[in-house]
Parts: sequence; C-alpha cells; structure tokens
Amino acid sequence: MAQNQYEYIIIGAGHNGLVAAAYLAKQGKKVLVLERRSIVGGSVVTESFGENFQADSIYAGGSLRPDIVKDLKLSLPSVTEEPAFISLQPDGNHLTLNAESIKQFSEKDASRWDEFVRFMDKAASILDAAYATIMPRLPKNMSLHDGYGLLELGLELRLAGRKDMLNFIRALPMSAQELVEEYFESEILRAAIASVAIHNSTLGPMSAGTGYTLIHNWLNRGGLSQVNVGEAGKITIDLSNTLKSFGSEIRTNAEVAKIKIENQIAKGVFLTNGEEISADIVLSSTDPRHTLLKLVGAQDLPPEFVWHTQSIKMRGAVAKIHLQTNGNHGIPEGTLCVAPSVKYLEKAYDSSKYGEISEKPYLEITSVPVRESVKESVVSIHFQFAPYELKNSDWKTESSKVEKVAIETLAEYFPNLKSSIVNRKLITPKDLEETYGLTEGDINHGQLMLDQFLFMRPIPGWSNHKTPIDNLYLCGSGVHGGGGVSGVSGRNVVKVLK
Ligand SMILES: Cc1cc2nc3c(=O)[nH]c(=O)nc-3n(C[C@H](O)[C@H](O)[C@H](O)COP(=O)(O)OP(=O)(O)OC[C@H]3O[C@@H](n4cnc5c(N)ncnc54)[C@H](O)[C@@H]3O)c2cc1C
Repeated sequence: MAQNQYEYIIIGAGHNGLVAAAYLAKQGKKVLVLERRSIVGGSVVTESFGENFQADSIYAGGSLRPDIVKDLKLSLPSVTEEPAFISLQPDGNHLTLNAESIKQFSEKDASRWDEFVRFMDKAASILDAAYATIMPRLPKNMSLHDGYGLLELGLELRLAGRKDMLNFIRALPMSAQELVEEYFESEILRAAIASVAIHNSTLGPMSAGTGYTLIHNWLNRGGLSQVNVGEAGKITIDLSNTLKSFGSEIRTNAEVAKIKIENQIAKGVFLTNGEEISADIVLSSTDPRHTLLKLVGAQDLPPEFVWHTQSIKMRGAVAKIHLQTNGNHGIPEGTLCVAPSVKYLEKAYDSSKYGEISEKPYLEITSVPVRESVKESVVSIHFQFAPYELKNSDWKTESSKVEKVAIETLAEYFPNLKSSIVNRKLITPKDLEETYGLTEGDINHGQLMLDQFLFMRPIPGWSNHKTPIDNLYLCGSGVHGGGGVSGVSGRNVVKVLK
C-alpha cells in the first residue's frame, strides 16, 4: 500500500476513536488516527497547566467497559472499592451515600438504600445491553442482521426479569425527582442522587427523561462516584500505546479540513495544511454535526438529512475549574456534590434556560490527594449551569464570574479553600469548543435525551454508524451507545464494519 494510503483513517484521537482504531489495528488493518490537538485523548486527558499543576482537565475519572479492557489487553487500574459519594450540607453536615450514614437522616431511607442500589445496578446492566446492540435504521425495513441483534437484546431483557424490565422502562421517561421520591423521603438524599442524573445534561431534576440520564451516568461510573480520579489520561495513553504496538500510526497536530468524497463515496481526507491522505474507509469520532456539516458539507447530503443534523440538540452548559492548592483545603477524598435540595438543582438549571450563569450552581468536586513528591493537591470543580450561549453577555466578559461563583460556593463549606489556592485554570463552554473541538461546548456530542436515544441517535434512521456517504462511519459519543466514557461507540462501529 502506498505511503499516504490507508485501509482506515480515524478522525479524532478521543477515547472512542482510539478504541475503534485499536480493534481494527488488532485485526491487522492499516490504520491512521488523525488528531487536531498536539496531544491525544480528546475529553479523556490529563494535562499540565503549570509546574506541579496536572489535572484530568475534562473528564473527572473513570474506566472503559470491561470487555474492551480485556479485548485490547489494556493495563488500566481496576476499581476494587467504590470511592465515597458525599453531599455537602449548608449546616456543615455531610451525607455520605451509604446505608450507615443515611440512617442519621432517615431510618426509612436507610432501609430502602440496598433495594435502590440493586435496582440501579440492574437498570444499568439493561441499558448496557441496549448500548451493545446495533440499532436498526428505523423506519427503514429491518435486515436479518438487525433482527438478530434485537432478538439477542430481547432475550437479555427477558432474562433481566419481568419486574425489573418494567421498572426500567418506566424509569426512563420519569424525572429524577419522581424517581427518587418513590424511594426516599429525605431531601438531602433525593437531591444528591438527582445531581448525578443532571450531571452533564442541560436538564433539571424535574425534566422528563432524567430517569434515563441517571441510569446512563450510573452505568458509566459503575455507581454514584467518579473512579480512578487523577488517572483519566491513563486510559487514552494506554489505548494509544496499544494501538502503536499493533503497528498503527497516530498523527497529532493533524486537523482534518474536509473528507474527500467522490460520487458519494468517502475516499480519504484533506488536512488543514493542504495534505491529502487516502483511505478505503473513513471513521469520524468527532461530533456528528461537525463531521457531517463541516467535514462533509451540506452540498453532499440529502436535504432532509441536513435538516435533521442541524437539529441535533447541542446545549453545552458545563464549565470546569481546576485549582492548584497547597493541600490545606480540607476537602475529603471522594466525589462531593453541592446539591442541597432538588429545588436548588432545578433553580440552577433554570438560569441556563434564560442564557444566564447559575448564581447558585450545582457543583461536583473531585480532588487528587497530596502526593509525597508534590506537596500540592489539585481540586477540580465541575460547574453547572454555564450555558454556551449567554443572553446578554459573552464568555470573555463572564469567565471570571464562573470562577468566582465556584470558589465562593465551595469556600462556604471549606473555609480554608481560598487561602490554599496557588494557581487556577478555568475551562468555559467556549474553550470546550475551541480547544477540545466540542461543538457548542456539548460534552456528549449531542444531548442525552429520549428523543436522541437508541435508534434516534444521532438522528432518526441513522443509528447504525452509517451515513449517506458510503464508507464514512461515525464512532464518537454522538452515536448510539456513546455519551460519556465507555468506549462503546468505538467498539460497536467495528461490529458494523465486519
Ligand atoms: C467538562 C466535561 C465533563 C465530563 N464529565 C463526564 C463524566 O463525569 N462522566 C462521563 O461519562 N463523561 C463525562 N464527559 C463526557 C466524556 O468525556 C465524552 O463524552 C467522551 O470523552 C467523548 O469521547 P469521544 O472519543 O467520543 O470524543 P472526544 O473526546 O471529543 O474526541 C474527539 C477528538 O476529535 C478531535 N477532533 C475534532 N475535530 C477534528 C478534526 N477536524 N480533525 C482532527 N481531529 C479532530 C478532538 O480534538 C478530539 O480529540 C465529560 C466531558 C466534559 C467536556
């Protein structure tokens, strides 16, 4: 094969692009991954923002699906015990979400905790099975192959047991508020769980469908807490090393400007520096809107398809603040949330509806413990809601506000925080777009909502990774199975290519 000719080009070295590339490289294919940034990882990256100031810049921690880790023989740390999930209370009390601590707030809730966890684990496993199934291209006629996948899923659901399956289906369209109210009476507990439901979604806990997002986040986290905090970047480093060990190439600082198309067939790519690289098949792990409207272009797509792609809901409303501290902040290890009540969360979300930054935000906090070698500790604050589109201002003007509100809010619980800060790094929704390539700062490449779910993700009728351009496939978070860190859409696309 000629030097600039590959069997597969994968656009984007986020974790999904790397997973797809690694599976293909393992099969002995000639694969090239192209990444616009100078580093690999996409949203799963550990970056340096200064001396001793290293952080999981975007994604707070986690892992890939176990089958992917096994198939690709990755040496990722396994999770032996779920870290604590702690809800901070305005009166200085903290609630750790386990039966023992919940007892202090409500005996009744403590007695229902195990039942709730059992249901959530079950619901997550059902969702996992659905994500592993390639969805048919409804409303097109189903092929035998599609039917077989669905049959397998049907069997899995049947095995899940009738009661659990019904409860799962019922939970999906529910609001997180309704779901938690069915189990618990204590407001603190209800709100803490509801915060996980709205994490990364531009929805409030009273929005329909946050039952689904709760199950989705539970599945990806393996429960409530972020795992392997401070080590997110290891996932994509390990994937790139594996990929290279199979003989494949990754090129950084290689931004794709256009996908080369001839007679509705993808033939390769053109980079922004003018270079042309040919391939039999092109996979894109960038978000569907970017891939289809920018890298392909409306002129090569059917009008109705263009209209659907333009209508994909991208509603970034997340900002991230990393604080390099001297370690004396007083914040315990684990995943912490500022979510004192369901109404508080809903009000935080309300601001985003009006294009405003929440004055009283929902925060999720993780911190990397002080290490022996480095007497400093990084505290990372996930901030919602900070809408990409600001109504009466812009992100240049408002950046300092987000930083201030985040630090002031957290300092109410940890008075030593402010004096412990040595350095800081803010990532706004605009930065998510400009630096991390996320259209409209939407971290899941399209909102996780029931009308952008299963056979409607990324758009109705195109849920099987294919596009109207032959030999061009989608494999990032914006397609079915994706959203969050799991590697599922990267793994699934390879099944379609077979
Ligand atoms: C602030 C934040 C917090 C998050 N928190 C969580 C969480 O708690 N739990 C969870 O499960 N998920 C979380 N996520 C979401 C999760 O990280 C993403 O959904 C997932 O990592 C996306 O992976 P991906 O490989 O599909 O795409 P990406 O990681 O977006 O990778 C796509 C890659 O393509 C590159 N690219 C784009 N355009 C081009 C081009 N034209 N040419 C070449 N390369 C290009 C980009 O630079 C990028 O590296 C979070 C994301 C963000 C931003």
